Order: sequence, then C-alpha cells, then structure tokens
Amino acid sequence: MTDVSATDETTPRFSELGLHPLVLKAVEAQGYEIPTPIQAETIPTLLSGRDVIGLAQTGTGKTAAFALPALSDLAEAGRADDGPFALVLTPTRELAIQVAEAFTSYATELPDFSVLPIYGGQAYGPQLAGLRRGAQVVVGTPGRVIDHLKKGSLKLGSLRHLILDEADEMLKMGFAEDIEEIFSQVGEDRQVALFSATMPTSIHRITGKYLDDPQEVRVAAKSQTGANIRQRYFMVQHSHKLDALTRILEVEEYEGIIMFVRTKQATEELAEKLRARGFKTAAINGDIPQQTRERTIDMLREGKIDILVATDVAARGLDVERITLVVNYDIPHDTESYVHRIGRTGRAGRSGEAILFVTPREQRMLGSIERATKQKVEPLTLPSVEELTNTRVEKFTKRIDDVLATTELSELTEVIEAYSLSRDVPASNIAAALASLVLESNTLKAEPMPEPARRQGRDRDGGRDGGRPGRGGRARDENMTTYRLALGRNERLQPGAVVGAIANEGGITSKQIGHIDIRSNHTLVDLPKDLDPSVLRKLSHTEIQGRPIDIRPDSGRPGRPFKKRNFDKQPGDGRNFRGDRRGGKKFGGRGDRPRDRY
Ligand code: AMP
Repeated sequence: MTDVSATDETTPRFSELGLHPLVLKAVEAQGYEIPTPIQAETIPTLLSGRDVIGLAQTGTGKTAAFALPALSDLAEAGRADDGPFALVLTPTRELAIQVAEAFTSYATELPDFSVLPIYGGQAYGPQLAGLRRGAQVVVGTPGRVIDHLKKGSLKLGSLRHLILDEADEMLKMGFAEDIEEIFSQVGEDRQVALFSATMPTSIHRITGKYLDDPQEVRVAAKSQTGANIRQRYFMVQHSHKLDALTRILEVEEYEGIIMFVRTKQATEELAEKLRARGFKTAAINGDIPQQTRERTIDMLREGKIDILVATDVAARGLDVERITLVVNYDIPHDTESYVHRIGRTGRAGRSGEAILFVTPREQRMLGSIERATKQKVEPLTLPSVEELTNTRVEKFTKRIDDVLATTELSELTEVIEAYSLSRDVPASNIAAALASLVLESNTLKAEPMPEPARRQGRDRDGGRDGGRPGRGGRARDENMTTYRLALGRNERLQPGAVVGAIANEGGITSKQIGHIDIRSNHTLVDLPKDLDPSVLRKLSHTEIQGRPIDIRPDSGRPGRPFKKRNFDKQPGDGRNFRGDRRGGKKFGGRGDRPRDRY
C-alpha cells in the first residue's frame, strides 16, 4: 500500500512518468502543470503493467490517472482487432459521459481515436452503431455493458484494460453480479485498475478474486490547519462561480486575496475576467518566469494589486502578510494541497478567511477536507439582492461623505447653482446625473443570480444508471411512482446512500429502484407503483446520516426549504438572505479598491 500526499518539489513532472509522447502533448495542452498525487503514483505503476487499486474520490484527478496510461498503451500498441482496447465501468450515465469526455480530451493527438459511452436509458440504436464502427475505448454502466455482451454487440476478446471507476458506488447500486460476469468474459491478458472512494469488504472480495498482485495507492489524509483561519464553502455549479465570486467580494472584507484554480490557462482567464469587473488582479502560473512571478507577488505585497490568481505550483511558499482571504475557486485535488493553500492567509498570527467553491459532484472532497482539517467548513450564504444593493448604496454614500469632508468645492458649487438656475433643474437631479457618470450606471440595484442550470455540462449531480433528465412530479415509467425524500444535496446525499437505505430498510432489490434525482433540499426517487404498503411503513422510519428521510409520494410542488443549511438558495427567490459577514464590521477598506467604487 502506498500513501500519497500533497504535491511538492519532489513530485515528478508529467514528462517523467513515462507517458507516450502523443498523450503527453495532449496533457500539456490541457494546461495541467504537475500530476496530482494519485496520478504521480498510479501512472508509472499502470504503465509497468501491474494492476492497481486506487483509493481516490472525485476531484483527485483519478480519471487521468487511469486514462493516460491506457491511452499510452493504445498509442504504442495500435488499435485492437476485435472489440475495444479498454473498457471503463462507471456507476452512472453522467460519469460514463464525463469519463468518455476526459478520454477524448487526452486523446486529441491519437489518430482515429474513438470512445463510446454506453448506458441505460439511452436507445440501443446509436450504441449498436458506435460499437459496430469499433470504439477503442468503451465507457459504460455495468447493466448496459452486460446487455451488449449478451446481444453479442460488444466483444471483450481483445480487451487489454479493464477499469472500474467508483467501484464502491457500483456495488452499492447492486451491480456486483454484473461486474463479476464482465470479469469472467475478459481474457487473462489484461490489466485491471480499480478506483474506489472507500474499500468495503465487498470490494476486497472482487480485488482478491480478479486482480493480480495489485499495487494499492491511496491519497493520505493527514493534515490540519491553523485554528485562526475561518473556513467556509459555497456549493455552486461551475458556470456560476464567477457570478457568485463577484457577489461575495462585494460584501466580504479583505485586503489581499489569493485565488486558486486548476490550470495555467484558468489563471489567465479568471484574472482577465476579474480585471474586466474592475478588480486589480494578476495571474501567476508555472509558465511565467520566476522573476516576473516575484514582481507580481511584490505588487500584491505593496497593494498595487489586490487579487492574485494562481496555480498550486506558482504559489508554493508564498508569504504575503496582506493576504487575508484565500479563495479556492477550483477545489484542490487532495486535502494536503487545501491545507497548503489556505495557509497562505493567517500569516504572522493574524486571522484569515478561506472560501471554497464546491460543485455538486465534488461534495465528497468537502467531507475529506473537514476530516483532514478536523474543522467544520461552514456553509456560506450568498448576499441577497437587498444586501448587495444596500452595500452599494452605503459605499456610494461614504464616497460622497469623504469628498464633502475633505475637498474644497465652492467653485464647482457655483457652476452647479448656475446650471440649476439657468435650466430650472433641481440640484438633486443634477447630482443624480453626475452620479450616473461616476458609476457608469443609472442604478445601484443588484441583479438576482441567474437560476442554476439543471444537470448541464460536466456538473454531475447524482443521477443513476438509466436516469433521465430532471422533471417534476410524476415518474416517467408508468409502472413507477415518484416519492420525495426530505434530504438532498444540502445534506450531501449520494445516490448510493438512497439506494442502500431504501433497498436495505424496505426489503426491496436495488433493481426495483428507478430514477433518483437529488435536488438541493429534497430527493425524488421512482419506486414501483404496486409497492406493498408495509414497505412504505418500514421506509417511513428510515434514516440516512441520522436524519429521517420522511418518504412520501411526490406532489410535484416545490420542496420545503431545509432551514439549517440554506447555502444554495439564490438571491431573488423570495426568501430572506443573510450575508455571512461578521456583525459590527464595516465593509470596504482602502478607498481606491475597485469594490469600493460605489
Ligand atoms: P477527477 O478526479 O478525475 O474527476 O478530476 C478532477 C478535475 O481535475 C478534472 O476537472 C480534471 O480535468 C482536473 N485535473 C486532473 N488532473 C489534473 C492535473 N494534473 N492538474 C490540473 N487539473 C487536473
């Protein structure tokens, strides 16, 4: 067993891992600076041909950890004659699509590469056509893979790589038999990589039976942080991070900020967007020469800029007392990196603030961070439209106060009085006209946050094999009824936990459980229409994570808000929002800061 912890100076570069040059080129184009710990450890092992068990969850970079070696091998060996070269099994269709996308992005330099996701809930036609054309990599949910094996449309005779992603989730969802069946159809001459966030005995059973002297790799969880750093998180889809960030920055108190993103390109992109919004921002990343980086850091130290957007590599050892806030715009790949990042604030005994953006699919990492730092990471509530507007009015009023208190204005006052008399316009109208020039806007009103898009792009949100896009009220399958559980994303509910609880407590099989749609404060689950009332009675006493699931038929009406954690409410939805500021403190700092422009 190998424990791997945060990336540091000893971490190898991608070019030192032994990847095929064509794969390496694609990785470099992705803007990744260095391998994540799980990648640094598993890539060389997989390239050497040994089986691997990786204890890693989403967000650690596990997809590249198994995709890059498989693609390197493919680049070396050329395509298989009969059936795919690599098969990846995933618990959900969302993950299947996402993994297939990742393969595509790492295979841009491989000639004629094709990857095919196959999952339940999708018509067979396109999948059959794709399989006939011959995909080198197939990514699928176990049930659908079995269906294709039975139909003869998928052959595993030439398979060289069998990869199980989120193996624990697959077992929780009742795919154990299917997985064993798949193993039995794969020849001896194949390599197995199994990734799982946890290692229940059911996984040990599979690895003991089917893996050959596997190397176990896990991301070590030994970290703690200074207690002088307050940690908060905000659950947000990737596409809404910038909006959320600018709202938070309007009401947060800060001097200097460091913001962490994943790639070199992202440092430049985010810095550019923040500059366009009036924040004095610069980017540093591993591509920028050391001297320039140091000059930029000095600018932060001297207050010439307020925000530094950085990658982990570029921010190593950075010590600037003025940093009072660390924003993890992208969640780090491992808890050690998180601890290093937030350690950039709270220097010299001062207190610091850390804000973490978490997308719904990264919730597990949040739990790991809490465990590793032995501290609660508190939910952050976005400031409401009213609060934002009030803050803007307050700041603008203060600017007027400051000018009136410090500047000799008699000459200009005469001009305004003359204007007012000659045009017969009240002084307040003239002042408002001038204010609109200063503000470059005729309003201080904040806009509501855009509504979060449902299940778009790469944000995986707890769907299940055979799942269908979001909907309200009724089940799509006429033999099913939709039930509502009183827990959701806010309680970090995972689909596996829903299946586990309902199957175990209700005494039904996981196959009888249909689509699961985890929403912010409730969850919709499709169950058979003819469910015995005794099952429902049993389920009515069921708890998940110590909370009653309060199962009841879904009326299709919006859920009751869950009082304790209202962090993902959006402003403008008619409910009351409280900012997460500490009482009594005034907002704003130095007068020339962009956020103080009102
Ligand atoms: P995963 O844990 O595989 O879901 O990956 C999480 C995210 O990290 C994905 O958005 C990847 O594109 C990104 N990623 C993976 N490896 C690296 C790396 N070495 N450097 C930066 N980002 C990475």
